[in-house]
Amino acid sequence: MEDKALEILNKFSQSGYEAYIVGGYVRDYLLNRKTNDIDICSSATPKEILEIFDNVIVSNMQYGSVVIIYKGYKFDVTTFRKEIKYENNRKPVKIKYIKDIKKDLLRRDFTINTLCMNEKKEIVDILGVREDLEKKILRTVGNPRYRIKEDSLRILRCIRFATLLDFEIEPKTKHFLSKYGYLLKGLSSTRKKEELDCIFSSTNNEKGKKLLIELKLTDVLGLEKLNDINLCTDLIGIWCQLEVDDLYPFTKVEKDQMQELRELLSYKELDDYLLFKYGLYLCTVYCDIKGLSKHKLNTMYHSLKIQSTKDINFSGDDIAKVLGREPGKYIKDIMEDIEKSILNGILENNNENIKGYIIEKYKEK
Ligand code: ATP
Ligand code: MG
Repeated sequence: MEDKALEILNKFSQSGYEAYIVGGYVRDYLLNRKTNDIDICSSATPKEILEIFDNVIVSNMQYGSVVIIYKGYKFDVTTFRKEIKYENNRKPVKIKYIKDIKKDLLRRDFTINTLCMNEKKEIVDILGVREDLEKKILRTVGNPRYRIKEDSLRILRCIRFATLLDFEIEPKTKHFLSKYGYLLKGLSSTRKKEELDCIFSSTNNEKGKKLLIELKLTDVLGLEKLNDINLCTDLIGIWCQLEVDDLYPFTKVEKDQMQELRELLSYKELDDYLLFKYGLYLCTVYCDIKGLSKHKLNTMYHSLKIQSTKDINFSGDDIAKVLGREPGKYIKDIMEDIEKSILNGILENNNENIKGYIIEKYKEK
């Protein structure tokens, strides 16, 4: 993908424009981290880009960003710009195209996100900030007092980068992240959740948790329980313990999983029946949260006599038929009895045996 991006940069320069790979890709390249998201910035305006490339999607003409589809890959391309006015501590309402890349870099969030790569794959460090990357420091471009206030998303981006890259936040930047933390209440829950998902799913999520607590952001984010939860590597496992199902956007499936997991977590120990009932995934998260061996769990799961209701050689309708009754709520109880008995080994999982068991125990004589 990188070679395609370099070809794009070449095409720009052949048409008389300046263009660079910028931001996350260059940062991660220097840190030896693989990424598949390449952002390009250029002195060409969206209109001019449309003249140079055949396959261009204009995503946001007004904000000078387009997507170039080149040899099967997608690249976000922005025109060098100055952001004039911010609204509601988030998106700029007005931008101006400029020809000077330096000014474009000055509007970016953190110094480590301003490094560029030219078409010869050389690193171009216009703001002279490469040392921050080498020293693993996160610092806003310019005075954090203004840079954090003008866009509150930067607070969470900063914590995300500190967590994922294991960087330290420069003290003054840190001070204003905390001071303007209250502005996060104006940020959409979807944007907040995207960032929090990245932070929580990191293998270094302990650091993210510490930062959110240290910077006193838990209240404004509704994460009052953060201090008390057991971190794990699964997002459902973390969100379930935070109990914010209605505060952040979750799908119906995720909400159901969180509810079930909370139920499961109320049990002190797992047994065959719980493993059968809640399934391997939720039980794995259970072990992750409780610090129990997942290897043992896997062995336990694979030696279950039945792993789901589908494995039972008898259906709810069969129960009603055998008892000569209309189907009703009672079926669920009998089914549960059958499941437990099979799992315990007192009932064999074949149609004849189950039928006999039901007649013996439930048929009115
Ligand atoms: P990643 O792609 O790993 O999430 P990134 O730094 O590339 O990290 P993007 O959201 O892809 O993040 O943005 C690309 C670049 O645009 C950033 O590197 C940064 O220079 C700039 N940028 C993104 N969001 C902001 C923001 N909220 N404020 C200022 N500059 C930003
Ligand atoms: Mg990016």
